[in-house]
Amino acid sequence: MQKDQLFTRRRMLFAGAAALGTAGSAGSLLAACTEESAQTAAAPAPGPQARQALKSSAFRLQPLTGDGPPRAAPHKLKVRREPILQISGRGRHMMLTFDDGPNPDYTPHILDTLAKYGVRAMFFLCGECVVDNRELVARMAEEGHVVGNHTWTHPLLTTLSRKQIRSEMVRTSDIIEDTYGERPQWFRAPYGAWNRATFQLEAELGMEPMAWTVDTTDWMTPGTGTIVDRVEKGAAPGVVVLSHDAGGDRSQTVHAIREWLPHLIDSGYHLTVPSRRV
Ligand code: ZN
Repeated sequence: MQKDQLFTRRRMLFAGAAALGTAGSAGSLLAACTEESAQTAAAPAPGPQARQALKSSAFRLQPLTGDGPPRAAPHKLKVRREPILQISGRGRHMMLTFDDGPNPDYTPHILDTLAKYGVRAMFFLCGECVVDNRELVARMAEEGHVVGNHTWTHPLLTTLSRKQIRSEMVRTSDIIEDTYGERPQWFRAPYGAWNRATFQLEAELGMEPMAWTVDTTDWMTPGTGTIVDRVEKGAAPGVVVLSHDAGGDRSQTVHAIREWLPHLIDSGYHLTVPSRRV
């Protein structure tokens, strides 16, 4: 939404810049994967939730595109201190992400374009948008897209209590599980604004924090050409592209992807998503 870029910049200034150089530069590693550990003794006793968190942590350091065996699960809850900004893996891999939906006016067109080129993407959904658009979430599942949690009401989480953040996350994961068939393993904070409580709760709920590398700035409706330009200039191995399929007039987003997606494919990029847990 409107402040995404502002918070992106702030986050990059605080943390990402030192690790990554400039936003949009490409590296070969999962960036900013600083972690700290907390004993599970402090977390809920091993119930389904704790098992889910451990299972999720098992592939934390695996390339997102890899299918390697999980590491032995330690009896610890790994809590990140920075979100993932880009993906790892060899070759010209990129990942496409769409936030704030689903929306009946725009999401179907984006899904059509992705289907036309056989590309899968990630959709970070707001729970309150899922309520009236369940069929779009079912379509995402059918077509192999990965769905992440983007809170229920898109609040600025840094202004909320821990209890409120948890509620935003859990309600959204519940409706996603009900419509998509699986609980989300990925979380994106609205406006890119994470804090310690958010990282801790994500870990407890078995989700990883996924940020982005290139903001298309489609939320500013800068014109289809500008959006196409930003994607094509930002394209590089490991880049995660942020677009929006809701939250305003997204017709430019819809038109732009019809241009830049075939260009990326022609340039040899493979558009990927994280492995889905079965
Ligand atoms: Zn958003």
